[in-house]
Amino acid sequence: MDCIFCEIAAGNIPAKKVFEDDDVIAFLDVNPASFGHTLVVPKQHVRNFMEADAATIGKVFGVASALGRVLQAKLGASGMNLLSNAGESAGQTVDHFHIHLIPRYDDRTQEA
Ligand code: 5GP
Ligand code: ZN
Repeated sequence: MDCIFCEIAAGNIPAKKVFEDDDVIAFLDVNPASFGHTLVVPKQHVRNFMEADAATIGKVFGVASALGRVLQAKLGASGMNLLSNAGESAGQTVDHFHIHLIPRYDDRTQEA
């Protein structure tokens, strides 16, 4: 395997996991844009959201929505960015579909 997110999904590389089920894993970004910056990732390798099938999209966005609510409640975030980069020109650096969930705070002290 030469995909870092496949390795994390397989448990071969450690990550700070915040959620896992049969199809999806979510873990903290190693280089966070804010406190609680989380990546939501399908376990099956697919390059980006345009190449993912509808079921995968549904599962990943469903988990992102639920986790967004949890992060907001637990961390006291007042807002949340959800974004997904597709392609090098769009800033994608890991070629395995993922959603960034970036909690935002009123006082900005928790911005990285
Ligand atoms: P992209 O730039 O592809 O949208 O986002 C990739 C994200 O994955 C980056 O924010 C980067 O910090 C994160 N990342 C890259 N390698 C690792 C890793 O090995 N572990 C974790 N937890 N995050 C990673
Ligand atoms: Zn992969």
